[in-house]
Amino acid sequence: MIHVVGGGIAGLAAAYRLQDHGYEVTVIEASDDIGGLAATYGTAGDDIEQFYHHLSKSEETIVELAEELGLDDRVEWLIGKNAYYVDGVVHPLDTLPQIAAYPHLSLYDTFRLGLLTLEVDVRGGRPRFDTYDDLADFETVPIKEFLLDHTTRGVYENFFEPLLDAKFGDRKEEVSAAWLLGRIKFRGERDLLRGEILGYFDGGFATLIDALVEAVGRENVRTGARVTGLGIQGKTVESLTVETGDGTETRPTDGVVVATMPNVLEELTGYTCDIDFQGAVCAVVTMAEPLTETYWLNVAHDAPFGALIEHTNFVPPERYGGDHLLYVASYVQDRNEAVWQMDDAALRESWLSEIEEMFPGFGRSSVEEFRVARNPRVAPVYERGYLEMVVPYDLSEAVAEGVYYAGMASRAQYPERSLNGGVVAGFECADLFAEG
Ligand SMILES: Cc1cc2nc3c(=O)[nH]c(=O)nc-3n(C[C@H](O)[C@H](O)[C@H](O)COP(=O)(O)OP(=O)(O)OC[C@H]3O[C@@H](n4cnc5c(N)ncnc54)[C@H](O)[C@@H]3O)c2cc1C
Repeated sequence: MIHVVGGGIAGLAAAYRLQDHGYEVTVIEASDDIGGLAATYGTAGDDIEQFYHHLSKSEETIVELAEELGLDDRVEWLIGKNAYYVDGVVHPLDTLPQIAAYPHLSLYDTFRLGLLTLEVDVRGGRPRFDTYDDLADFETVPIKEFLLDHTTRGVYENFFEPLLDAKFGDRKEEVSAAWLLGRIKFRGERDLLRGEILGYFDGGFATLIDALVEAVGRENVRTGARVTGLGIQGKTVESLTVETGDGTETRPTDGVVVATMPNVLEELTGYTCDIDFQGAVCAVVTMAEPLTETYWLNVAHDAPFGALIEHTNFVPPERYGGDHLLYVASYVQDRNEAVWQMDDAALRESWLSEIEEMFPGFGRSSVEEFRVARNPRVAPVYERGYLEMVVPYDLSEAVAEGVYYAGMASRAQYPERSLNGGVVAGFECADLFAEG
């Protein structure tokens, strides 16, 4: 019997693929719900993820998995409109004319930004098309230095810096240019007349998680059970300790895939990973009326949140009983930050008053529900030298024979963590396990 620690997408994908290879598998999940960071809330219609989620066009493995599970007709490619809120104005940034009209960049800034996104290096007046091919070349280059060198100060200060502030706060200077370039390559396709093409599941990502659980077999997924230790004899894993409401038990095992954050791997095996993680506070606001016409609104402004993501401008409100759903989100670098310290009532007051100030037409009376999710570890800080800190899938050398790692500190979750990355990591571990 193989055990998978963690019932998020990575753990479920690992279990599914291990079964494909002919193994018996049990998934052990600490919380009462399956899905990890992709867990959902109920609404008046379909369930909605507690943290916003969509797919990019470049993510293929998760779509192939959906096809295998018979869900191909449930993957939808929709338009997600982007905009930037600066000085009280929402600037749509989807089409070429909109981008050209953005008043906070000069024509030359826009030209240099455009070339960077097309991965053309025009430094020295001679276009080169291969400069950005190898991300490793930019692993140790600070993002600011890179942007000042490869674009313009205007592009850095008026376009990227507010986004980096929202995503990484004080730690923005530590992030590598490789991460930015990886993101540019990662973010998929754009319809230049309408906006970015993003993926979602009819019924939400719960559709995929549920289908995976069905495929793995509900009887093989144990919730409310926390793995607290691995029994390693010599250089081989032989057992694991599981705590449930009924007590603690030790189960014999033929192998373990740890599909959790790396701090859990460290607790279980002593393997240390130096990647730092940031937390997030994210509210789903259920409203009777829409707030904007945008899906993804970056806020370049000293607001207590970094983005307003109006889900029902991406997926129609009819799916949610006609309600409009808005994510208000803030990343947290340090647990002393006010946003992490606030309780739900204080957060509601702070965030809704800010939205009222930003959008005078917004009426708080339209808010029907304000639900808050918090998690201290939701995404790596993609610091310089990140790839050297990645945890290998196969930990037979570093820990013991039979121990594998599919969590967020794995290679598949670079340059951006994603559900697709979780599926890839789970599959990689299962395939390596089968290769022995
Ligand atoms: C704000 C936010 C926005 C995001 N946006 C997107 C997006 O747009 N698109 C996208 O693809 N992805 C997005 N993601 C990322 C995506 O949610 C994650 O990459 C993915 O869910 C990670 O899956 P995982 O299985 O690796 O980890 P997790 O989902 O964290 O699962 C790990 C599981 O392990 C369990 N566990 C921990 N310790 C133990 C233990 N000792 N014993 C047993 N179980 C244990 C946990 O309870 C958890 O369920 C977003 C995430 C956040 C937070």
